[in-house]
Amino acid sequence: MTTTPLLQMGLRVEQDIFVLRQRGREVAAVVGLEHQDQVRIATALSEVARDLLRSVGGADVVFAVADSPDGRCHLRVDLTPVAPLPGGRYEPESGAVARLVDTLSVLTVQRDTVVRMSRRVPATARTLTTERLTELRAQLGESAPGTAEEELATQNLQLINALDEVRNQRDELARLNEELEQTNRGVMALYQQLTDELEATNQGVVALYAELDEKSAQLGAASESKSRFLANVSHELRAPVTAIIGLARLLGDSASDPLTTEQERQVGLIRSSASDLLTLVNELLDLAKAESGRIEPEWAEVDLRAVFGQLRGTLRALPSAAEVELVVEEPAPPATVRTDEVLLAQVLRNLLHNALKFTAAGEVRLRAERHADGWRLTVSDTGPGIPPELHDRVFEEFYQAPGPARVGGTGLGLPYARRLVNLLGGTLELASEPGRGSTFTVWLPVDGT
Ligand code: ADP
Repeated sequence: MTTTPLLQMGLRVEQDIFVLRQRGREVAAVVGLEHQDQVRIATALSEVARDLLRSVGGADVVFAVADSPDGRCHLRVDLTPVAPLPGGRYEPESGAVARLVDTLSVLTVQRDTVVRMSRRVPATARTLTTERLTELRAQLGESAPGTAEEELATQNLQLINALDEVRNQRDELARLNEELEQTNRGVMALYQQLTDELEATNQGVVALYAELDEKSAQLGAASESKSRFLANVSHELRAPVTAIIGLARLLGDSASDPLTTEQERQVGLIRSSASDLLTLVNELLDLAKAESGRIEPEWAEVDLRAVFGQLRGTLRALPSAAEVELVVEEPAPPATVRTDEVLLAQVLRNLLHNALKFTAAGEVRLRAERHADGWRLTVSDTGPGIPPELHDRVFEEFYQAPGPARVGGTGLGLPYARRLVNLLGGTLELASEPGRGSTFTVWLPVDGT
């Protein structure tokens, strides 16, 4: 760190304070401090000078330029009091003095107590080379100090400038405040608008939900009245259709008056049509019952071997193509499942019935496989198969897949079977491809629901 003295002077009488102030400003100007800083250091200097003159009767003042380790230049002023400072310490009268400079401290330099202040020279100032410093020293030596009046006039001017600047800053602050307030108002308005919009959306959503609830209640009611209508109509139809069948049978009875061949044919037609109608009516009634939840399964421990045995017996009697073999595999014991025996038998019979009906050659097989959590009961056949795009449709009411040969039926069997399996807590699925037969799988949990 190098220190180059620029100017030194004595402080002994009141007049010297003005000179010191003036010199301080000059030195600050020549080393490159900005105007504001020139006034600041000059003010700090005159304050400290007044304190020292009063307390110890004066000081020797040295202005110097010092390099700091960070490579920056400082203007440094050392004031060595002419007599020891009271208590060896110095506190400026005005607390604001320390804020006017970068450092203000009391230190010992070669056994002298020195009051030192410094201010950093801005980086934008001209570089202070040795030649430049010599030049500055000469320049300062030449200039003569002004009078106290001149210094007072200068100070006044500086004060007016400072006041002007304060007013400008205050105006700027007011303007910024106003701007901030406007922005705040804008933000508040935006926030309010967003809140309103959100509330409106919320209300819309609530209204939509209410409408949905209403619609689903309406749908529920509609489906319920459809089931009730079906149940009532089929129930009402059952009696007259049964009567027609009975009457047709009576007409053809050998105890009745003999019929002509033509009449016999017509009575036969009436009877078979009425039988078809009765089947339809019965199936409709079953489906309506299942849909309206009026079928209550009777849960019991059911032995699958018994169910299979019964099916084997009843289905053998059914008319089927001669080349079709019905294979009912014996389930491996223990083959029990908690379910409703009548409903399960109804489902399996239905599936086997379909398989026999649609299969012209090969076999129809019923088997049961035990899995960890349930039973897989499969009815597979070597029939025509069902294209994948119709797999969902065949479970719809009244749907019958188009085929080369119409084999009768109502299209109600599969939807009814699926309903029953669901009631039993299971599922009914179809795997099939045209030409590769069909496999209907009933999956049942071991413990029912
Ligand atoms: P239905 O047998 O009275 O026509 P279903 O609801 O039982 O009514 O069956 C619906 C349709 O599904 C049948 O018409 C038929 O087209 C098809 N289908 C059912 N089972 C089989 C099967 N095993 N093989 C081929 N097609 C079948």
